Amino acid sequence: MMQLSMYIDGKWKNTNESERRLISNPANGEVIAEAIEGTVDDAKEAIRSAKRAFQNGEGSWPRMAPAERADYLYKVAAKLEENHDELARLETLDNGKTHTEAGFDVTEAADCFRYYAGLIRAPEGQAADAPESIHTTVVHEPVGVCGLIVPWNFPLLMSVWKIAPALAAGNTIILKPSEVTPVTAVKMFDIFNEVGFPDGAVNLLLGHGAIVGNELATSRDVDKISFTGGTETGRAIMKSAAGNLKKISLELGGKSPNIVFSDANLDTAVDHALFGIYFGAGQVCSSGSRILVEESIHDAFVERFAERAKKITVGPGNDPASEMGPLVSEDHMNKVLSYITKGKEEGAKLVCGGNRIETDALKDGYFVEPTAFTDTTEEMSIVQEEIFGPVAVFQTFKDEQDAIRVANNTDYGLAGSVFTQDNAKAMRVIKKVRAGITWINTYHTNFNDFPWGGYKQSGIGRGLGKHGLEEFQEVKQININLQPEPTGWFSE
Ligand code: NAD
Repeated sequence: MMQLSMYIDGKWKNTNESERRLISNPANGEVIAEAIEGTVDDAKEAIRSAKRAFQNGEGSWPRMAPAERADYLYKVAAKLEENHDELARLETLDNGKTHTEAGFDVTEAADCFRYYAGLIRAPEGQAADAPESIHTTVVHEPVGVCGLIVPWNFPLLMSVWKIAPALAAGNTIILKPSEVTPVTAVKMFDIFNEVGFPDGAVNLLLGHGAIVGNELATSRDVDKISFTGGTETGRAIMKSAAGNLKKISLELGGKSPNIVFSDANLDTAVDHALFGIYFGAGQVCSSGSRILVEESIHDAFVERFAERAKKITVGPGNDPASEMGPLVSEDHMNKVLSYITKGKEEGAKLVCGGNRIETDALKDGYFVEPTAFTDTTEEMSIVQEEIFGPVAVFQTFKDEQDAIRVANNTDYGLAGSVFTQDNAKAMRVIKKVRAGITWINTYHTNFNDFPWGGYKQSGIGRGLGKHGLEEFQEVKQININLQPEPTGWFSE
């Protein structure tokens, strides 16, 4: 069985006294690993280590030339690729996602390190509009010790979206993966160990969010928290972070609208709607979990959608025939099933799925059928709350204005999409959707170079792209007087 340890101050930390958490495979419930359960003392040790590494003198991580830091990141990217299949296999084992999905995450993770290695080499200072005697310049500096707290749905990729820009900018980091899925983070720290970062620059803390995660959020020695996870946890972190007014970035939940107009190509729109909600078994923050269909095509669309949803092959992620894997844990599956029950009680109508899959082959795993509800109202909890599973809710709209109103009628604002063959209409609507990640005639398309994050209660700040780098940088203006002489402001 795999033994998962923490990595602090350049060393693996194995303590016999520590409590262990059992990590299981969501496809069959089998235990695959034992992870050390970190304590508040471990969190404090990791914070001290990152702080020392940030404050070290010449040659320390923040004071290295950006090009030198970039070299480390290029080495990590190469090793992630060398270990592509093994990392993908482990991710499937731990999280449940299909091998194809997991392989995609590894490729994106390597690209993310390369992207930020390149971006940090871009010139930093820039001259501004100032009198000739004053030279002004802006420099970007690292924020300091960064706590990076990530969820279980993309264990490797969400970690890398934070680690790559944080390190490129010269910060020292403490990664806190989800206690449910720590396996690939540990494997990646093996790679960091081989690459040989300066002691304390990269630290891995395992354990429970409310204990070690909370210590990171509360500690006065942590300068920045970058968090991805649920909106309620984000709210708690924001409160804990207020003690030293640490910088925060929050990437939270969503209930994203996928808006289909009657002039859209039906087959294409249905296909993308299926991908929008059932990719990753719906455990994706940007999932198109509300499908808004123009009244005149609603019935035809739903019929085609349900027909295809019933044909999706659900199975273990390591079976090449599987198109959709299990949910991540029994607890999470029960949460999703309770929303399905609630939807029925609220009066919505099931058009496909609705059950746990209990065939002989799948009964030990946490598999739920691709599910969809029609006859919903805007107030229903299945329409307003993030279910984070393979459950779509259909809504209808009358016209363009109504589509925008229904789309925005939620506390969330993460993502949104529009399907229509009228380009001007697509642009009019997408510009009015209050969300940070939007698409026209596609769903889930994403690039490391573009900012990721939400409006409203879907978060604060942006990951990825140059905005994602700036989240890990302080900005300083330097004004240089080229002709130092008295100002004459006060009389002598
Ligand atoms: P979660 O909020 O339960 O946990 C996320 C992380 O926070 C975990 O590492 C957990 O241990 C830690 N944590 C929990 N309580 C904490 C506390 N009090 N202080 C500090 N850390 C704490 O989320 P989850 O269930 O792991 O993931 C699912 C959620 O993540 C969904 O709501 C989803 O929408 C969101 N998500 C958002 C994005 C995005 O980019 N916006 C991406 C992926 C997932």
